[in-house]
Amino acid sequence: MIILKFGGSSVKDADRIRHLGQLIQKRIQGSQPIIVVVSALGGATDDLIQIASQAESGDEAYLKSFERIKARHVDTLTALISSDMLTSPLLELESQLNELSETLRGIFLIQEVSARTLDLVQSFGERLSAFMISRYFTSLGMVSAFKDARQFIVTNDRYGHAEVDMDLTKKRIGENFNEKIQVPVVTGFIAATEEGHTTTLGRGGSDYTAAILAACTQAESLEIWTDVDGVLTADPRAVRHAYSIPELSYEEAMELSHFGAKVIYPPTIQPALTNKIPILIKNTFAPEQAGSRISEDTPVRSGSGMTGLTSIQNVSLLTLAGSGLVGIPGTAARLFLCLGRHEINIIMITQASSEHSICVAISMDQAAIAKAAVDKEFSREIEKGVVDGTRIESDHCIIAMVGEGMRKRPGVAGRLFSALGRNGINVSAVAQGSSELNVTFAIHSQDRIKSLNLLHDAFFQEQTVKLHVFLIGVGLIGSTLLRQIEDQHHILKREKHLDIRIVGIANSRKMLCDREGLNLENWKNQLEELGEKSSLESFAERMVAYNLENSVLVDCTANPSTRHIYQHVLGKSMSISTANKVAASSSQQDYDALIASARRNNAFFLNETNVGAGLPVLATLRNMVESGDKIKELKAVISGSLSYIFNHFNGERSFTELVKEARSLGFTEPDPREDLSGNDIKRKIIILARVAGFKLEPEDVIVEPLLPKSCMDALDVDSFFVELEAQADYFDKMIKDCLSNGTRLRYVASYKDGQAKVSLERVDENSPFYNLASTDNMIVIHSDRYATRPLTIAGPGAGADVTAAGVFAELIQLGNLNHV
Ligand code: ADP
Ligand code: ASP
Ligand code: MG
Repeated sequence: MIILKFGGSSVKDADRIRHLGQLIQKRIQGSQPIIVVVSALGGATDDLIQIASQAESGDEAYLKSFERIKARHVDTLTALISSDMLTSPLLELESQLNELSETLRGIFLIQEVSARTLDLVQSFGERLSAFMISRYFTSLGMVSAFKDARQFIVTNDRYGHAEVDMDLTKKRIGENFNEKIQVPVVTGFIAATEEGHTTTLGRGGSDYTAAILAACTQAESLEIWTDVDGVLTADPRAVRHAYSIPELSYEEAMELSHFGAKVIYPPTIQPALTNKIPILIKNTFAPEQAGSRISEDTPVRSGSGMTGLTSIQNVSLLTLAGSGLVGIPGTAARLFLCLGRHEINIIMITQASSEHSICVAISMDQAAIAKAAVDKEFSREIEKGVVDGTRIESDHCIIAMVGEGMRKRPGVAGRLFSALGRNGINVSAVAQGSSELNVTFAIHSQDRIKSLNLLHDAFFQEQTVKLHVFLIGVGLIGSTLLRQIEDQHHILKREKHLDIRIVGIANSRKMLCDREGLNLENWKNQLEELGEKSSLESFAERMVAYNLENSVLVDCTANPSTRHIYQHVLGKSMSISTANKVAASSSQQDYDALIASARRNNAFFLNETNVGAGLPVLATLRNMVESGDKIKELKAVISGSLSYIFNHFNGERSFTELVKEARSLGFTEPDPREDLSGNDIKRKIIILARVAGFKLEPEDVIVEPLLPKSCMDALDVDSFFVELEAQADYFDKMIKDCLSNGTRLRYVASYKDGQAKVSLERVDENSPFYNLASTDNMIVIHSDRYATRPLTIAGPGAGADVTAAGVFAELIQLGNLNHV
């Protein structure tokens, strides 16, 4: 015997039922006899509950709702069976619908619905569907019969969640089935008491019906046919890349279903396990897929050894705390008994080893009843002040990671929690089964999807890390970065298990966002044509609203205002990688607050490209300081654009011409005065000094101006160039002096003994700065360890390619830090 169960999703409409018809026609040609169990048409049970509640509240609209559900069934049957064979089934269907109508009218009149009546109302869902499907099979030429499970599944009278009397049920099943019927179609979910009152087995209970039949007929196997390819590593509605688990042990399946994997109703496993009947979970719409097999074999799993991730939503945490609980035996028992008396299901329990508090997770809709009951139970202790009133925290969810692999591997929980911590996800309660088959924890509901995806990537996708990038500034550096990421994306994913996804890009007017990752092809047009109007704040808000794991804000602007959103982003444990120097060179207090916020929130503030573009300057300095070196003096040529200008300024071409050229090559800021004023260098020396461990305020840096005042005062970039040209003599004289005494012009930043300075120096051939070429930067570091000869870092220090590559390197660094 094989039991095949088809859920609501497989029998949702006439098309799907036809599909089922084809599947069954093939199966009856096999050697094994079969029994088919079906659920109500998808969504019908919910509809019936809702209509009953409308009728109960005296709302006449229940009649309209009833007409809708009636029409749905009549239409489905009419679509399935040709008109010449339709009369009798339609009459029978209508007579059942009349019975439902009568029941609803009764509820409407007395404006009350008991648990028993509600079970009766719900039973129509399966009764109607099984009846229709059976008649449809008959019309296809199969020998089929409609089987109302109330005739043989016997339960107690715990309406809504009735318990099955297996012995009696087994006997009745024996009497009710015979092999002459090729395809019995049994109602799932419903049963009856010995007295004949209709009961139900709990929502999702058709799976259980099928398992009971399997156990009672000693079936070869139990097949659960649904709308997904088996038990997946996570709920596919939360984790898009969840995949099917080929083999599971009964225990693993039990844990997964208990903690929310809806694909199988938890009580289903026990009868199968007791009778060693394998369960197959298959996709009705892709029968060629292997699906999942649940059996007593312990599956061998590669990779992290984890089986699946699940979640239960709408959970409240109830905490009982106080000195009166410490060392008093029986407190926990009293709490559980009290909750049990009120039929409150405990999903998870945690108790601090101090015994000072005990916390249970329960369904949110039972929280108020639970609180009242527990407060009453402990009223004497609360009055005496030795126990606080029960505390309820709502809007939580439970996440469980299940896997046999956990048993043999230390550190799984540690890795899991540190990954959550890095993403700012606060864990409210934790429990680990002593079987070490699962780690279970409670978090705020808003972090559910983020946590599931984070852990799925870490434990189920060959430990891939997804990095979600939000980029502001898509000018030269930003667009170069996008191109570099696009070019390298597949290699990083394949070889480094790092999936860098650009989920948001923005310029000063518009943003384009997609939480699954933007298609970068043609992004410029997309941003223009499809982009939403945006501001810095709305972009940051979107980033926070998406709440994606491993999110990072990349700032490739020169905008002085972007720093105002940094705190908001860091506060949500999202990191920042910035080529923009403004924040790190603002007041010492603001800078300290930024760094402190990053640290407090387990996020990173990375700004390596602020000095020397792609050169490893800040990292080197940081390493020196952290390993105990003391920096004595910094001297640096750190403006790629000014280097470029001075390295080409040899009397052959005019100063203005060179500034224009440097600008068009992207070496200067859009307004070259940012560089020529010394402002940009000033920012860099502040940043250098701070990373070297010193405190420095911007107003304390001495900057010797390079340009005549009239150039600085020009109103815009165009008039600046006019003014610069007018000052040609000034620059000519400067270069002639140098040529005559063999020196070269360098705009040098330095820091020594608390004083930072930016000044134009004429260096001779003994200076390390003498031989710089092109856009070269050079940072000369004197320290305790580098006392006699300084540590020197030199190389090209400007250009979109190297700067973007510097940011890219930081993203890779962030990705690696997030590997679990
Ligand atoms: P049926 O109508 O066939 O009984 P259900 O809706 O009860 O189907 O269960 C199947 C659904 O369970 C899937 O469509 C999926 O959305 C959800 N689900 C949740 N967790 C899992 C999981 N780990 N594996 C597979 N499906 C899951
Ligand atoms: N129809 C019932 C429900 O929706 C039982 C089931 O589908 O398994 O809960
Ligand atoms: Mg189901």
